[in-house]
Amino acid sequence: MDSPALVWFKRDLRVRDHAPLAAALGSGSVAALFVIEDEWLASPECDPQHLAFALQCLQELRVSLRAIGVPLLLRRGQLPDVLTQLQRDFPFRRLLSHEETGSGWTYARDLRVGRWCREAGVAWEEFPQTGVIRRLEGRNGWAARWEQRMRQPVIAAPRSLRGPQGLGEGDLPTLQELGLGSARPLPSAGETAGKDVLESFLDTRGRSYRSSISSPVTAWTGCSRLSAHLAFGTLSMRCIYQQTRARIAALRGSGDTHERRVAWHLEGFSARLHWHCHFMQKLEDEPAIEFRNFSRACDGLREEDFDQGRFEAWRNGMTGFPMVDACMRSLNATGWLNFRMRAMLVSFAAYHLWLHWREPGIHLARQFLDFEPGIHWSQMQMQSGTTGINTLRIYSPAKQAADHDPTGAFVRQWVPEYGTSAYPRPIVDEREAVKRAKERLYGLRKTDTARSEASAIQKKHGSRKSGLPQTGKPRRKRGAMGDARQTELFD
Ligand SMILES: Cc1cc2nc3c(=O)[nH]c(=O)nc-3n(C[C@H](O)[C@H](O)[C@H](O)COP(=O)(O)OP(=O)(O)OC[C@H]3O[C@@H](n4cnc5c(N)ncnc54)[C@H](O)[C@@H]3O)c2cc1C
Repeated sequence: MDSPALVWFKRDLRVRDHAPLAAALGSGSVAALFVIEDEWLASPECDPQHLAFALQCLQELRVSLRAIGVPLLLRRGQLPDVLTQLQRDFPFRRLLSHEETGSGWTYARDLRVGRWCREAGVAWEEFPQTGVIRRLEGRNGWAARWEQRMRQPVIAAPRSLRGPQGLGEGDLPTLQELGLGSARPLPSAGETAGKDVLESFLDTRGRSYRSSISSPVTAWTGCSRLSAHLAFGTLSMRCIYQQTRARIAALRGSGDTHERRVAWHLEGFSARLHWHCHFMQKLEDEPAIEFRNFSRACDGLREEDFDQGRFEAWRNGMTGFPMVDACMRSLNATGWLNFRMRAMLVSFAAYHLWLHWREPGIHLARQFLDFEPGIHWSQMQMQSGTTGINTLRIYSPAKQAADHDPTGAFVRQWVPEYGTSAYPRPIVDEREAVKRAKERLYGLRKTDTARSEASAIQKKHGSRKSGLPQTGKPRRKRGAMGDARQTELFD
């Protein structure tokens, strides 16, 4: 095929294992495009750190693409206006991109792009980039299909393509030029940094993964820290999965008991790669969960009671609950927090403070460098008790502190005024607040509407044969999975 092709990069900022780029091979001429979209900048979840990370990734991507002869065109504005303008200078006939399971605004934009392509006679070819399956009819067999995708050979970057001449690439803007404030300090971005993070995790940092992931202190280095790389696509899920499986096989094959133990730790990590796509699949199948309750029986439960003062205290780390405040301040400063502490923050907002999940979810989405809509909104609802199918889990901040910050070092680091009069008193009476939250939620779950909703949701979104425990299964004993109480949350 010799039709000119435009490869549209979104959250897939790499050249290795990039199906749309590989598909451009054989096209007459090939250009690449990244658009800093107005809707992205205007979306409530967008934070300067996301732009700063993407811009750093684009710097490396531009160099890698130039090396194979492809210009990376950087534009700002709205699709499809950008496509219309580009057509004038570069009459591409193919638009190649990855499928995206994103926020509502990306879905609406994709509909516009689809219309534009049909009218302009451009063939838009989309390729899957994770284990998420488009137009999925049911969850049976999902895990096997995931596995099959992940085992497909990694696609090498094309060695050489022919780029069109004379197209202005467009400079990478600064945050100031984009009208954004400054970003907090970032981890290294880009494809090379992603590879380094993966290697350091598989070689050394992940050796006691299961025992490190619960405490915010040990998780900082003991977790893979690959989430931002997955969110911006500097590494493909397939590469991570295959490299992990290869490492596990080598450790098992070594015959050494210690190494076998390390393989067991890495198995825990490998399972979580399924979860990534399992949760994204929920948003793919039901995009509305970004905005409304999974279980409609929960509508009206918290909406009217939203207390702005409590919300402000929560998001600024000023609730008077030291573990909650330490986690929030640490997240606000660094852009990352481990799973358990994310879950605790949300549980505290939902049950202790009785806040609806949407506003807290927006705040966290801005703080998480790894914001991934499918995981994020599913988890926000799960930890707030609005999925209708998951076990309600109310975290006690004091217990989390005792279990995961026993020396108090983490709290002292982030809440240095704790124990002085400068630190606020608890903003709610914990016992009262939790009692009331339980009464309301358990009461609701007993209603006929909630029960019939739950079985419909379980049917559509619950995991079957996915390797994840299902709702209603007996709790695993702590230690069996290293962080059993994390896994028991999942349906
Ligand atoms: C309220 C809430 C919101 C969250 N929002 C996001 C988000 O926006 N983006 C995001 O990537 N993760 C999110 N998570 C899941 C999880 O906390 C992060 O994936 C993890 O902390 C990222 O760090 P890591 O890469 O070092 O994780 P690791 O423990 O090293 O795990 C490796 C990878 O497995 C996947 N994974 C791990 N745990 C989970 C999980 N519970 N659910 C789904 N996938 C998982 C992620 O892709 C992660 O990068 C959220 C969790 C909660 C409770």
